[in-house]
Amino acid sequence: MESYTQDVQFFGNYTPEELLKKFGSPLYVYNEKIIRRQMKRVAGILPNHRFTSNFSIKTNSNLTILKMANEEGLNCDAMSPGEIFVLKKAGFPSDHIFYVSNNVSEEEMKYALDAGVVVSVDSLPQLEMFGRICPGGKLSVRLNPGVGAGHHEKVVTAGKKTKFGIAAQDIPQVLEIAKKYDLHIIGINQHIGSLFMDYTPYLEAIKHFLIYAESFDELEFMDFGGGFGTPYHKLAGEQEFDMENFKVELDKLLSDWKKETGKDVLFKMEPGRYIVAEGGVLLGQAYSVKENYGHKYVGTDIGMNVLIRPELYDSWHDVEIYRDGKPVVDGPKDIYSVVGNICESGDIVAKDRELPVVKENDVVCVLDAGAYGYSMCSNYNNRLRPAEVMINNQGEAVLIRRRDTYEDLVRGFEV
Ligand SMILES: *Cc1c(COP(=O)(O)O)cnc(C)c1O
Repeated sequence: MESYTQDVQFFGNYTPEELLKKFGSPLYVYNEKIIRRQMKRVAGILPNHRFTSNFSIKTNSNLTILKMANEEGLNCDAMSPGEIFVLKKAGFPSDHIFYVSNNVSEEEMKYALDAGVVVSVDSLPQLEMFGRICPGGKLSVRLNPGVGAGHHEKVVTAGKKTKFGIAAQDIPQVLEIAKKYDLHIIGINQHIGSLFMDYTPYLEAIKHFLIYAESFDELEFMDFGGGFGTPYHKLAGEQEFDMENFKVELDKLLSDWKKETGKDVLFKMEPGRYIVAEGGVLLGQAYSVKENYGHKYVGTDIGMNVLIRPELYDSWHDVEIYRDGKPVVDGPKDIYSVVGNICESGDIVAKDRELPVVKENDVVCVLDAGAYGYSMCSNYNNRLRPAEVMINNQGEAVLIRRRDTYEDLVRGFEV
């Protein structure tokens, strides 16, 4: 593939230059068609079972995208009271929100309970806390199956060396605490990690999970977690996550379980990245191309405050170069590090990357930036967080979040 954005007509009726001119640079641009396509895919993972897919909104909580998720029939996962608040604003009813809590105060847990949202607890002390503030209540328990998966140590969220979930051998204590407070464990959930392209560990973890399920008599749902990968190396031909075969294997596994146990519960999943990563790109501008001691740099306005994944996880994002409204795909190439405008030597979007020869004022387009992109933005160096624009199904560009203003930088101060 030479240019992903051109192949899928990502920018609708515009060129990237026109978008930057209209909305400023840098700029997050989303494509409604792609995002809705992914939402439909996850909503349809288990057509033969009672199933809901929860969108994990820490990946991207733009209200416009949340409203689309609601329209496409997805439920949502919240990771904080703030996410519950935003989901309510987007129109989600309480029973379509699941609060996957982790090390929270009583106040936060009460916030979720008062909002009528089902809570998952992550440890025995948090289960005790739940019991104290909501005796007789219903809840879910996050289990850690002892196996994990993911693209980087920092995103493996189950297994023997992570902070998440309750270890399987502690299930008897879970039951004891539940009894003490007359709690009803109506759900169990897990999330083994983020960004796997091979679904084998996910299916393995589900097999463990189905065994743990036998310890709980009142189960109404089981949530297997998210983590489905996105092909971040698509320009080199990396293929999509094999959803079709995954669906077939999972369907069989769960049908067999239902037959064997005679049980029927609601199955849930909580993907995030898979839904929004490919439907978002980050545009910026090359302001300076230079060579320092043999290394070539493309200096852009795409700082680590705008996209932190490369710095935080050593993540790879494909980069395309646009000039005169078209992607540059032919001609000479060179090796560059694409860097931002933040005062940190680690402020590198793409390291030692082969790119077409870059000129000043070229547009730099970072692919697969729709997940963990804007949601991890900061004002580091007192930089302004960028605007977000949606290319809608008609190809029109709609501003869906304005860029910060300088006044936003001092809003919290009593000056
Ligand atoms: C982050 C997270 C997800 C989503 O992970 P993706 O890799 O983006 O699919 C799902 N569940 C929980 C509990 C999470 O923390």
